[in-house]
Amino acid sequence: MFEGRMLIDGEMTLGEGGAQGAFIESHDPATLMPLGRVPAATAADVDRAVRAAAAAQRDWAGRSVWERAALLRRLAAAIRSRGAEILQLEARDTGNTIGKLQADVEIAAGYLEYFAGLGSELKGETVPATATGLHFTLREPFGVVARIVPFNHPFMFAAAHLAAPLMAGNAVVIKTPETSPLSGTLLGELCREVLPRGLVAIVHGQGFPAGDALVRHPLIRRIGFTGSVTTGLAIQRAAAESAVKHVTLELGGKNPFIVFPDADLDQVVEHIIAGMNFSWAGQSCGSTSRLLLHDSIHDVVVERVAERLRKLRLGSPLDPAAEMGPVNSARQYARMQEFVESAVAAGARCVTGGRRPLGDEFANGYWLEPTLFSEVTPAMRIAREEIFGPIICALRWRDEREVIDLANDSPYGLTAAIWTRDLATSLRMSRAIESGTVWINTAGRHFVGMPFSGWKDSGLGGEECLEELLSYSRIKAVHVFS
Ligand code: NAD
Repeated sequence: MFEGRMLIDGEMTLGEGGAQGAFIESHDPATLMPLGRVPAATAADVDRAVRAAAAAQRDWAGRSVWERAALLRRLAAAIRSRGAEILQLEARDTGNTIGKLQADVEIAAGYLEYFAGLGSELKGETVPATATGLHFTLREPFGVVARIVPFNHPFMFAAAHLAAPLMAGNAVVIKTPETSPLSGTLLGELCREVLPRGLVAIVHGQGFPAGDALVRHPLIRRIGFTGSVTTGLAIQRAAAESAVKHVTLELGGKNPFIVFPDADLDQVVEHIIAGMNFSWAGQSCGSTSRLLLHDSIHDVVVERVAERLRKLRLGSPLDPAAEMGPVNSARQYARMQEFVESAVAAGARCVTGGRRPLGDEFANGYWLEPTLFSEVTPAMRIAREEIFGPIICALRWRDEREVIDLANDSPYGLTAAIWTRDLATSLRMSRAIESGTVWINTAGRHFVGMPFSGWKDSGLGGEECLEELLSYSRIKAVHVFS
């Protein structure tokens, strides 16, 4: 059994409750066997973490960006050196399959290195505001930044989300998700080894009290949140009730995958699978789960995707050959069942999936076959709400205006994939679609340095790019006269 700790003021700790305090139990979503536990932070633990971080931040902000960069690079190297251990724990705790999960360690280390290289971009400007004075701007840190992460890639998000705020001279308090929190302890150990005491804190706990106490803490002026729209709104409200705070949000999506009749259908089928991120059982904000198929190719694509889904290899998250594991938690599993039932009740056709897979290894745990619904109409819940699981729905369209309206008829605007061989169509569509990311003839891919940002209810603020670094600094104007 894994015994987790928090990192507070440079110590790996159980928090104020010690061994008698509250814990969050973690179990393997593939088998329901207990895996370990982490202490749940109290509001007092959060307060201690933030105050220690504030004390460490003063010295950190006084160091040159290159000194900070050197430590970020050391943290990246330390993460890689324990990569295998991190992945084993993460695969068991999340249900994500280890084959593709390998990338998470590299992505986390890669973002630390990417932002380490951008130090000189924390530059200001000079403005010729008067003939006699010198007018320039400085970019300064906020102090202590809170970053709250979701369950789908807990290690990758927690580690990668340290990079921009640390580089900009802030201290960081991370709150791990309440399901799959175990790898946060390993990140805590690595930060403790490499970074100045107290500069990074890792706390565990539920939204209440831990997350809420962090958001409302008077020393926290900058919050970066990744998670659901409902929680994002709650965080905006809590932040606004406590002080004027900068909040950025990376939230959910109901992302369209639009296929024109001229698209290469072999590629389309492969990318519908890739765009769904089945390695994490579809639990990815960017998953293109809403297929908008032209009437002329609708039936053939639905049949071919169904055939491909039936062949997906479900298996233990620790099996390198497995293409999909279980969904993450009891909450997620209940949600999936509810969506399947609502789709059937609304008259959608379950082309494949919708059930627990057969076989002893799937008898326990949160297993659901990859699922495809057709004959879905735009008003159905499965067409409108983010499912965040291995369920795809297919809708048909006949002309371009209709598909643009269908695609944009959503409160979300995170990603969209458009498949056509016609350049003019692809450019027209990329302008017409309301989302922060548009993929043409591909799906699901992130590119370091390109902004990942949600439109509408999908979020506020760009990440994975220079904008993320700059958003963790605030501008000061200096006017000098002799
Ligand atoms: P969630 O909103 O339930 O929880 C996310 C985090 O917020 C957890 O750490 C949770 O403990 C914390 N939290 C909950 N209530 C809180 C409160 N009142 N105050 C402060 N913190 C609180 O999300 P989830 O179920 O863990 O993750 C799934 C969601 O995340 C999906 O909607 C998905 O689309 C989204 N997501 C978005 C991105 C992106 O980059 N846009 C990436 C990954 C996941």
